[in-house]
Amino acid sequence: MKYINKTIFINYLRCPTLGWMTKRNMILKSRRVNNRFLKFERKIIKKMSQHFFSNAISAWGSKTDIGALYTKELILNPNVKTICEASFVADAYLAKVDVLKKCDNNLLSLFEVKSATKYKFKYINDISFDAMVLAKASVNVQKYLLLYLSNDYRFGMDVSKFFKVLDCTEKVELKTNEFLNLSDEIFEVIKSKNMPEPYLKKNCKNCLVFNTCIGKSVKNHIFDLPRLSTTSIEKLITLGVDTICKIPSDFELTKVQKIVKNCVLTGINYISENLETHIHSIKQPFYYLDFESVSMAAIPLCEYIGPHTQFLTQFSIDKTDIAGNILDHYESILLIPKKTVDVRLRKNLLNI
Ligand code: SF4
Repeated sequence: MKYINKTIFINYLRCPTLGWMTKRNMILKSRRVNNRFLKFERKIIKKMSQHFFSNAISAWGSKTDIGALYTKELILNPNVKTICEASFVADAYLAKVDVLKKCDNNLLSLFEVKSATKYKFKYINDISFDAMVLAKASVNVQKYLLLYLSNDYRFGMDVSKFFKVLDCTEKVELKTNEFLNLSDEIFEVIKSKNMPEPYLKKNCKNCLVFNTCIGKSVKNHIFDLPRLSTTSIEKLITLGVDTICKIPSDFELTKVQKIVKNCVLTGINYISENLETHIHSIKQPFYYLDFESVSMAAIPLCEYIGPHTQFLTQFSIDKTDIAGNILDHYESILLIPKKTVDVRLRKNLLNI
């Protein structure tokens, strides 16, 4: 990769080592089905966003430099009002902008398309990266806007109702100045042959390379503790603690975290003293409820359902005796909102 793109830059902000590795394609891409689905869905949403603007022209080029040249041409063409998939190259940086709209005063509005239904602070970093590259390329932008999904959209509605717009100009301008000040330093570190030394930080917790980087060969890492808060992680790191065994006895932990810590220190499994009482309190016949739900679809798949709405697709209930013999079986396959399903499920359970 010739240029520093958004992913490299944002990963660098999380951790210089991660940014350096990203530039060298050292981060394995997830092949999990849901990740591939999300990637596919993001592509579709970007395409749908182009229909939100009338007569948008794509500046896509088979190579980055071709796309960047074509973008310049389209910006200069007075007949073109909206450009999508625009590319900008400046210094060693490359930005791909989802949509650019020309305003009456010949300035531009930049739109970043997201497949979420809520604003997230991290989107400001994404837009500010584009803003930084455009500033380096001396392209004047008047407004920075976020195009995200409307909770009110329902299956079958017009695409114009699928998106909502949020003006992020003020926040982006502040962040862009910060990024411009950092950009030379980041460029130097990224292009260096020497990888920045990894060190433990809160961001390591969800890092894709944790097991081959800072977490390599570390047993019972503090990140294995359930629901460890960011504040606790930061406090432990300041104390130089990376494993559960090293956590000081007076360090504040939750009840469950204390149980886990004790299991690690003693090597003895934990069995709740109430378990036997609980098991004996369950009376025959037994009911086993199983259900499947879908929550990840940004584009509604069926009627009454909005973007990212969780809905049940099926449930089943088995009634058994103590030996596990099935005495009765109930099931339902559905594609209806969770609220309706809850009613049907409750009805089934009450009728049993
Ligand atoms: S595991 Fe931590 S140090 Fe290593 S690349 Fe990830 S964030 Fe950086």
